[in-house]
Amino acid sequence: MILEHVRPLGAAPVDVHVEEGRIARLLPSARPGPAALLLPGLVEGHCHLDKTLWGLPWWVNEVGPTRMDRIENEKRVRRRIGMDAAREGRALAEAHLAAGTTRLRSHVDVDEESRLSHVEKLLGLREAMAGRMEIQLVAFPQSGILRTPGVREWLDEALRLGCDAVGGIDPSLIDRDPVRHLDAVFGLAQKHARPVDIHLHEPGELGAFALELIAERTRALGMGGRVVVSHGFALGDLAGPRADALMALLAEAGVALCTSAPPSRAVPPLKRARELGLIVFAGNDNIRDTWNPANAPDMLARAEMVALKYDLRRDADLALAFETVSGAGALGCGFAEYGLAPGCRADLVLVEASCLAEAVVTRRPPKLVVSGGRVVARDGALARG
Ligand SMILES: [Zn+2]
Repeated sequence: MILEHVRPLGAAPVDVHVEEGRIARLLPSARPGPAALLLPGLVEGHCHLDKTLWGLPWWVNEVGPTRMDRIENEKRVRRRIGMDAAREGRALAEAHLAAGTTRLRSHVDVDEESRLSHVEKLLGLREAMAGRMEIQLVAFPQSGILRTPGVREWLDEALRLGCDAVGGIDPSLIDRDPVRHLDAVFGLAQKHARPVDIHLHEPGELGAFALELIAERTRALGMGGRVVVSHGFALGDLAGPRADALMALLAEAGVALCTSAPPSRAVPPLKRARELGLIVFAGNDNIRDTWNPANAPDMLARAEMVALKYDLRRDADLALAFETVSGAGALGCGFAEYGLAPGCRADLVLVEASCLAEAVVTRRPPKLVVSGGRVVARDGALARG
């Protein structure tokens, strides 16, 4: 396959030669005239394929105000409306692919209700999508680990079955025992040699304490580069010097941050975090589910959300927003062979835009999506066959 006359990330036009699913070489294009913008496949760094109601009729959200309300509500709704993690998860993953996402990290619930059923369904989905989309699954203890007998063993089994990473959640607020919760998470990571991705919504100093414990364990186990903190709202709550010290600690330990850039919540400061050496990438988190009725399987839309949240207006800053849904996501999640250089997996997205900034704010459906050297979508719709 040769993609003729395209501008990688807005640079001078080239022809991209693809061989055996990889970028073989980029040669200067001699052809005159306008050329489409070439992006690497986009990276969804944090979603929940087993929670989405994508493709189902509208569900009227009347959930209570707390996180525990949402956790318990979701279990009731799943039973009542007959959600199927494989069916809705596939619909969402394919919508993502049509919008240019070729690498995706999904958390998958492991709790007393789902036990391993969601893990099994999403492992099947990962297999079914292989070749078109690279999916990572994080075994996620949505309802905590210690407060429910069996969860630790199911997480262990989920990793044995093939989940790519182990998750954790608010170790003080849910399990009410941060040291034991994090020791359980890192213990499983060590046992199975898998990375860690922890949901940390805990505010202020409570969240700061969890961040210190996470950095401590990452360092002690030599897991730098293999640990992600998702959300990390505490870093948005705390005053500059305290947040700076924590971010420097995380950077030194090799812990990355993932944010959904939610409009409703203080978030880690993006530019300052990057200055301190942290990898910061983006994910949608909840998309049309019982947690959040909003959001879309579209990483350019998420990049725009990042831009709005962080007040990024200059073109160079919008390119930074794009970085959170591309290169930074690949680094943070450990997706290999990523990018537009020779040797990289040929995950290529063609967009009608003059530059990254325009691509982010216009959010046009890609003209073409290539994954692993194969055309998988055109004009925002999946290619058939
Ligand atoms: Zn999440």
